[in-house]
Amino acid sequence: MLDNYNRDINYLRVSVTDRCNLRCRYCMPEEGVGNLGHYIILSLEDLARLIKIATTIGIRKVRLTGGEPLVRKNIIQLIRYISNIPEIDDLALTTNGILYPPMARELKDAGLNRVNLSLDTLSDEKYRFITRRGELKDALNAIFTALEMDMHPVKINTVIIRGFNDGEIMDFARMAYEYPLHIRFIEFMPIGDLHFWKEQRMISVDEVKKQIESEYTLEAARTIKGNGPAQYYKMAGGKGSIGFITPMSNHFCGLCNRIRMTADGKLRGCLYDKREVDLKAAIQAGASDEELRQLFIQAIDMKPARHHMDNGWGNENRRKMYQIGG
Ligand code: SAM
Ligand code: SF4
Repeated sequence: MLDNYNRDINYLRVSVTDRCNLRCRYCMPEEGVGNLGHYIILSLEDLARLIKIATTIGIRKVRLTGGEPLVRKNIIQLIRYISNIPEIDDLALTTNGILYPPMARELKDAGLNRVNLSLDTLSDEKYRFITRRGELKDALNAIFTALEMDMHPVKINTVIIRGFNDGEIMDFARMAYEYPLHIRFIEFMPIGDLHFWKEQRMISVDEVKKQIESEYTLEAARTIKGNGPAQYYKMAGGKGSIGFITPMSNHFCGLCNRIRMTADGKLRGCLYDKREVDLKAAIQAGASDEELRQLFIQAIDMKPARHHMDNGWGNENRRKMYQIGG
C-alpha cells in the first residue's frame, strides 16, 4: 500500500519479545526487563493472524526482531507459519546469535530465509563490556554457522561508537574482505534510556568510509537482497561487502518501506514517532479481520514524512529500542 508520501509500504518488522539474553549498554537496562506476561504480549496465534492480515495491505517481507527473537518460546513454529503464507516472499531474523547455532538447521527448515547478526567488537573483553554478559566466541560461532548453512546474504550489524569500537573499523573491513559477509556500520542513535548515549560517541559513517578507503577500493554495489536503507560497497578483490546505515547523518526516510509491530501489539509507522495504533486492545475487544486491517491502514496513514532524531528522543517517548525492535 502507498502511504501519503508515495512510499510503498511492504515490509513489517515484528518485535516478538522485549526480553533478551544480553544487556547491551546502548539498548537494555542492566536488570533486564520484567516479564510482560501472556495477557499483554501477542500470542503466537495473534502474531500469525496479524501477519496474514498485513499481507492484504501489501506486506511482502517480514523481519522478526526484539529483544532477542530466539528467546521467544515456539519461535520455530511462528517461522513455519509465516513461511507458509504465500504472499510473504522474504522472511528474515535479526539476532545477537548467542542461541542461534543449535537452532540454525531447524530455523532454516522451518522456512527462515536470512539472518542478520549483531556484532559490535572483535575483542573478547569489549564484547563482555558492551553486552554486559555475552561471550565473543558464541557470537562468532553464530556468524560462521550462518555461512555454513548458506543463509546468504549474511549481514552483520555493527553499531559504531566513538571511544569503544572506532579502533576496530579496519578489522571489520578485513572480515568483509576475507569472508562473504556484509558488514553494515550503523550510526549510534539516541534511543531508549540514553544511559550510554552521548553525542560525542556518534560517528558519522562518512568518517568510517574514509578510513576504509585509505586501504581498500570501494565500489558502489548493486542491491543486495533485503537491502533496506543500507548503501553497499564491494571491496576490489574481497568476498563480502561493506554497508553504511546513516539514520543520523543522512536520513533515508524518503525510501522507508516499513512499519513496526511491538511485542505488546502496537503498530508504529516510524521508529522515532511515538504515535502507535493498538492492535492488541482491538484483538481483546474481539475485532474482526477487517477491523484489524483498517488499523494497519491507519498506522500507514500516520507514517510521518521523516524522523526527527536530531531533536532527541524526548522524555515522553517511553519506548526503548528492545521494545520497538531495532
Ligand atoms: N537482539 C537482536 C540483536 O541484537 O540483533 C535484535 C534486536 S536489536 C534491538 C536490533 C539492532 O538494533 C541490533 O543490531 C542493535 O545493535 C541495534 N541497536 C540497538 N540500539 C541501538 C542504538 N541506540 N543505535 C543504533 N543501533 C542500535
Ligand atoms: Fe539484546 Fe539486541 Fe538489545 Fe543487545 S541489542 S540488548 S542483543 S535486544
